[in-house]
Amino acid sequence: MKKQFRLATLLVALGALMLTLSGCGKSLSQQDVLQNDRKANTITWGVKADTKLFGLMDVRDNQIKGFDVDMAKHITRHILGKKGKAKFIQVTSQSRIPLLKNGNIDAIIATMTITPQREKVVGFSNSYFDAGQSLLVPNGSKIKNVSDLNKSGTTVLGVVGANSVQNIKKFAPKARVLELQDYAQALTSLKAGQGVALTTDNGILYGMAVQNPGFKVVGGTFTREPYGVAVNKGQKPFTNEVNKAIKEMEADGEYNQLIKKWFGNVPGFNYKELER
Ligand code: GLU
Repeated sequence: MKKQFRLATLLVALGALMLTLSGCGKSLSQQDVLQNDRKANTITWGVKADTKLFGLMDVRDNQIKGFDVDMAKHITRHILGKKGKAKFIQVTSQSRIPLLKNGNIDAIIATMTITPQREKVVGFSNSYFDAGQSLLVPNGSKIKNVSDLNKSGTTVLGVVGANSVQNIKKFAPKARVLELQDYAQALTSLKAGQGVALTTDNGILYGMAVQNPGFKVVGGTFTREPYGVAVNKGQKPFTNEVNKAIKEMEADGEYNQLIKKWFGNVPGFNYKELER
C-alpha cells in the first residue's frame, strides 16, 4: 500500500514537471520572432556599447550610437514601418550568442562575422558590411604586419568570444594571446603595455585610433570578416525581411549614406571601398 502511494506521488510529480518543462505557451524555438515583433511593433537588437563607430554608449544622452545601431534602426523601419521601434540591449563578443539563445534579444547586429562555426548555432542574414582583421600598435612600434608577431615571448591582445583570437593563433602561432573581456579592457591593456598589439577588425581598430592618437592601425587586413545579422535558427521569415531591408537600403542609397556618416572622416580608412 505504502509502495503504491509512493509510486502515485512520484507519477504526479513527474507529470507536473513535464507540464512545467513543456510550458503553456510555445518554446522559444517554436515562436515566430517576426510575428511577435510585428505585434509588439518593436525589434530588440543586441548591439555593442564599447565599440566606437559601430556601437558606443554616449554618456551625454545615454544613447548607443554607431553604424550597427543605425543599420538596426533603418532595418527596423523597413520591416515595421515608420512607427516601428528599435530597442537596444548591450552585448559583448562573448555574451551575444547566449543572449540571443535565451530570448533576451531578437537579433544580433554587433560586428559579428558570419563563420561556418557560428552558422552551426545561429542563423545569419546576408552580409551587411565587409571588414577584415588587422592590428593596432603604439606609434613607435616596430611591428609592421602580422608575421612580426610570430615570435615566442610576444603577447597579442584580443577579446573573448571574438573569432580574431582564433585567427591570430593561425597567423602567428608562436605568439601568446591574452584575451580580455571587451574592447575597452583590451585597449586599456594595450596602453598598459601588457601586449605589443591589439588584434580585431580594421573598423573597430580605426575607431580606437581616432580616439587615441598615440596608436595606429598597421598590417592591412589579413582575413575577410563579413558581418551578418544573427538570429535564432528557424527564424527564416525574420531573416528574409532583414535581407530584403538590406537590399532596399543598398538600392536607395541609404546604405552608402550611413557608410559615409560613420567612416567618411576616419583618417587612413578608405570608406569608398565599403560602399555598395
Ligand atoms: N568580427 C569579429 C567577430 O565576430 C571580431 C569583432 C567582435 O569581437 O565582435 O568575432
